[in-house]
Amino acid sequence: MFEHLKNKISEALHVFKGDSKITEINIASSLKKIGNALIDADVNYKIVRNFIHKIQEKSIGKKVLTSLNPKQLITKIVYDELVLLMGKKNVEMDLSKNPSIILICGLQGSGKTSFSSKLAFFLTKKNKFPLLVSVDIHRPAAVDQLKLIAKKVNIPVFSLEKSKNVIEIIDQSILYAFKNKRNIIIIDTAGRLAIDQIMMEEIQRINQHSKPNEILFVVDSMTGQDAINTAQSFSKKLNLDGIVITKLDGDNRGGVAITISSIVKKPIKFISNGEKIEDLEVFHPDRIANRILG
Ligand code: GDP
Repeated sequence: MFEHLKNKISEALHVFKGDSKITEINIASSLKKIGNALIDADVNYKIVRNFIHKIQEKSIGKKVLTSLNPKQLITKIVYDELVLLMGKKNVEMDLSKNPSIILICGLQGSGKTSFSSKLAFFLTKKNKFPLLVSVDIHRPAAVDQLKLIAKKVNIPVFSLEKSKNVIEIIDQSILYAFKNKRNIIIIDTAGRLAIDQIMMEEIQRINQHSKPNEILFVVDSMTGQDAINTAQSFSKKLNLDGIVITKLDGDNRGGVAITISSIVKKPIKFISNGEKIEDLEVFHPDRIANRILG
């Protein structure tokens, strides 16, 4: 996770090694390297330009007043800007209703089903009683996959195998949740390989009917710029509450995690970094910035 970016930024900060003050030469050289590191990490050019500009302004303003050496000072400024870019702080889910409904959406293969089970497992550890619901009426294998993962951790899955009516499945699942004292319903929706109207209309219908507390959009970090475009398309059709970034374990660049929240204007709530059920992490911008600069 972020290894490439981490190494490049470390090189960029190494420019100050031994210097006792910030000069036009060392700051220009370091900022150029930081900019290149972010471009290499697949961060959009405009964001990089803005980021560098802010660091430049702050470092010039603070040049004389602190006891930190130049390397420590620029590291601190880069850290603060990274945290801001990634959304400042974690935004928790709203799980105030009983049952609370969490709607999971995203393209096929993004990691929705895996995330749904990971989230259910995460919630059981917080003393919640989740129910997983598959409304993928197009791919029966999707229901089987969800059942397979959920069984390993003893979490119930609701499905109506013969039904082709997503609204009926949702209504029945809510009844089931009441009867079986499940206080959170996680709805794993059907995805497509690319955005299409049928999928979007179906998710909008599910949204209007189920009135979820949380709509979480799941995206594969390895898909780079496409991930951001897809998030923007979903965000135009649904009032997303948060973003989940998956497969960060295989992405040593991390540009999606760094920028998606500032472009789509929605917080990242979780990151997934592996295939195991426990490979899920609540997203904290400061912790990620620490890892990148660590
Ligand atoms: P869906 O079609 O959106 O429901 O996607 P799946 O949940 O079926 O995931 C697609 C593939 O990605 C599966 O092989 C998962 O095991 C894998 N996957 C999901 N999340 C992660 C992750 O964070 N890291 C890795 N390495 N693989 C993941």
